[in-house]
Amino acid sequence: MSNFHIYFTSVLCSIAVVDMRSDTVTKPTDEMRLAMFKAVVGDDVYCDDPTANKLESSAAKMLGKESSLIVPSGTMGNLLCLMVHCDGRGDEMLLGDDSHISIYEQGGSAYLGGVYSRLVKTLPNGQLDIDDIRSKIVTIDDVHFAKTKLICIENTHNRKGGRVLRPEYMQQVAELAKEKGLKVHLDGARLFNAATALNLPVSKLTECVDSVNVCLSKGLGAPIGSIIAGSKEFIAKTRRLRKALGGGMRQVGVIAAPGLIALEKGSKRLQEDHDNAQFLAQGLAKMSELGVRIDISTVETSIVVFSVVREDMTVAEFVAELEKLGVLMFVFGPTTVRCVLNCEVSRAGVQRALDTVQTILSGKYTQKND
Ligand SMILES: *Cc1c(COP(=O)(O)O)cnc(C)c1O
Repeated sequence: MSNFHIYFTSVLCSIAVVDMRSDTVTKPTDEMRLAMFKAVVGDDVYCDDPTANKLESSAAKMLGKESSLIVPSGTMGNLLCLMVHCDGRGDEMLLGDDSHISIYEQGGSAYLGGVYSRLVKTLPNGQLDIDDIRSKIVTIDDVHFAKTKLICIENTHNRKGGRVLRPEYMQQVAELAKEKGLKVHLDGARLFNAATALNLPVSKLTECVDSVNVCLSKGLGAPIGSIIAGSKEFIAKTRRLRKALGGGMRQVGVIAAPGLIALEKGSKRLQEDHDNAQFLAQGLAKMSELGVRIDISTVETSIVVFSVVREDMTVAEFVAELEKLGVLMFVFGPTTVRCVLNCEVSRAGVQRALDTVQTILSGKYTQKND
């Protein structure tokens, strides 16, 4: 293929890029943009932004908690929650070694929150083994040890490919926490995906935790923002801390308005992303002789993780070739790639992605040898 052809193909493809790097890439719909335009606003630092207040009360209701708070990002939401739960010097939290908080939040819990992280191995299904958690809890007052205050769990689990934690498992974590006098924080960035997969109301997945973070800006489709929820007293503390961290926003109704649409409508269409994830996974499974490795039984929600094992091509090269043909995926590890299905990717887009993977791996597109 000539350079002109490659250029021409990529120009054509730029018209309709299939972007599966993440579900954060979704852009606000016209309905959301109109809602932003029309949003009734006030100053949320004075708690008088009516649209933010409306979002916070409906989110609290949906999540089955007394109170909720809009925050700029899931990272800030998690940080606020763990700082409020672990508010003494020398407090620690237990969390998965493959959790988002541990891997992708810059260690902010340590340098901003002063919270020590004690890691528990994350199992392939996203769970932390209950006995493993139990063995790491320190509640005795011994000068050698940090004091355990919190257990963090993640549902769905990002690094484990969107795996779902069932309510029975979460209940077991909550019982252990109760027995030991600890709190439980749920990083539920994609909690609505878990609820969709289990066909349960989302409140069934929050009833046994003390706090939860849910991203509006991922599969739900809002442009910005997360919600944290918990007891009235807990959320009052996070509101205070949010201001200190620079997250006190003023006419935040312009963000809350699309957030409300995300909660009401975005949460109802996630099954489509899950169906597309299945379609993608099944298509990839047919390419094993081209070096694709995937265990389709692990695809439970919107995330598809697969490996590409080739002598002639690294995963980074594979993803770079895909990009030239207008298909965007995320390099997830030395041999793994992640796709997150989202509302901007149609079934036809998934088919195009599959065709493009096939083209590249079957050597019909050998740009390197040109
Ligand atoms: C995306 C994500 C976050 C953080 O959200 P941001 O809004 O990107 O800061 C937290 N936890 C999990 C599991 C996530 O996938």
